[in-house]
Amino acid sequence: LRVKLKHVGCVGMCHQVPLVEIVPNEGEPTLYAKVKPEDVKNIIETHFDPPNILSRIKNKLFHFAEEIQTDRNWDGVERYEISMREKPVASFLGNQVPIATEYRGIINPLDIDEYQRRGGFSALKKMFESLSPEAVIEEVKNSGIRGRGGAGFPTGIKWELVRKEKSETKYLICNGDEGDPGAFMDRMLLESYPYRVIEGMIIAAYATGIHQGYFYIRAEYPLAVKRIRKALEICRENNFLGKNIMGTGFDLDLIIYEGAGAFVCGEETALISSIEGSRGFPRIRPPFPAQKGLWGNPTLVNNTETMAQISYILREGFEKFKGIGTDGNYGTKVFALAGKVARGGLIEVPMGVSIRQVVEEIGGGIANGRKFKAVQIGGPSGGCIPAEHADTPINYESLSEMGAMMGSGGLVVLDDTDCMVDMARFFLSFTQDESCGKCTFCRVGTKRMLDILENITSGKGKPGDIEELEKLAEWTKKGSLCGLGKTAPNPVISTLMYFRDEYEAHINGVC
Ligand code: SF4
Repeated sequence: LRVKLKHVGCVGMCHQVPLVEIVPNEGEPTLYAKVKPEDVKNIIETHFDPPNILSRIKNKLFHFAEEIQTDRNWDGVERYEISMREKPVASFLGNQVPIATEYRGIINPLDIDEYQRRGGFSALKKMFESLSPEAVIEEVKNSGIRGRGGAGFPTGIKWELVRKEKSETKYLICNGDEGDPGAFMDRMLLESYPYRVIEGMIIAAYATGIHQGYFYIRAEYPLAVKRIRKALEICRENNFLGKNIMGTGFDLDLIIYEGAGAFVCGEETALISSIEGSRGFPRIRPPFPAQKGLWGNPTLVNNTETMAQISYILREGFEKFKGIGTDGNYGTKVFALAGKVARGGLIEVPMGVSIRQVVEEIGGGIANGRKFKAVQIGGPSGGCIPAEHADTPINYESLSEMGAMMGSGGLVVLDDTDCMVDMARFFLSFTQDESCGKCTFCRVGTKRMLDILENITSGKGKPGDIEELEKLAEWTKKGSLCGLGKTAPNPVISTLMYFRDEYEAHINGVC
């Protein structure tokens, strides 16, 4: 067959994979979902025997074929979809705003020419031609972008702090140490958009005066490591990295450090210890990494998603970025939508959309006709928000007022068959297992809480357990050194806040 086979990055539609798209020289592309080996013959006959396609569909010889119009219109192209077995609902992609995931499902992750044809590296060109490092920082500050790793610290201010440090040697680290159960945002961004993340890093390095950077990627993400390694090689060959980037005299090299899979290494000081070759123990702050980080030098640590959004800000201007989202929460956020939702996958939505919009409009509601009960948002350090509060806007402040947090972007949907006490036990068992053990409140507090939750869920709960849990949660939050311990009690606190009756039912033996 005279066809070009092209691999593309993540489309985000995990609920429809494997996907195969046939793009003819003329006419509309056709996307096949949930393709099985036995479908291949029909697909080939359909597209490479053109006179037959229309008559076959019209005559319904393909009993499973259903043509629907989708709204994959981010590139202005109207597409048609033939679902092999079930109708993918059109609004999954249509309600999203792709910035970090721009051109998803369209570009080949490692094709540098295609990346440039679609606007890639134009932010770099603009920067080197017309912007001083200070002007870049100003642009990033004006955009209002906040770190997408969870804490939401303003990115421009972090860059300014590093820029002002008077040190010959400074380091840049892209934090790709994603370890939350149910989360795969960093993984998909690194696998699907390696050049976009690299472009963001070059911009950050130029703005802050850094000449050496690291990708910290967990070793459990072998494809992400492989793609970034290859992309770095191609960037060096094409003069986007090295001694004299794009002939400007600016030099930067980026290398990969593979993390061994400790959740605590997502915490920036633990991550730095890990690169230094020590055990991944968090350090007391201050000094902050911006002042004294890797090998004692000023270090800029930014999350992968933050890096993937930077080139858009420079290319399109901060006003356009600021036009997306709501006051104080600008731009978009990538989420891994998982759990009991009908359509799970990787999504990118404007800040400020409600939980309900994500679950019902993008996710298509709850799978198997069950009832929407809650969402667990923010990973194991986040909290559970009940369906009654599903109109809460997704932004840093609103989520924290509701007892949850943005986190890095895990969003697990729960239905009426899920036990919230068991949910709290599951997330706490994860953080307890991942606690590095350095400080007592986290090491012992999470263990004691987990013991109580295990007793309650196995029918051995007793009066006073709830009060004991509340006390331990408060102490663990207050006394722990790093974010892991400080946030580990959140799933317990939020489920006690909204689903206390379930704890009581377990203890009283009525469930
Ligand atoms: Fe380690 Fe937990 Fe203390 Fe963080 S809070 S330093 S993970 S023991």
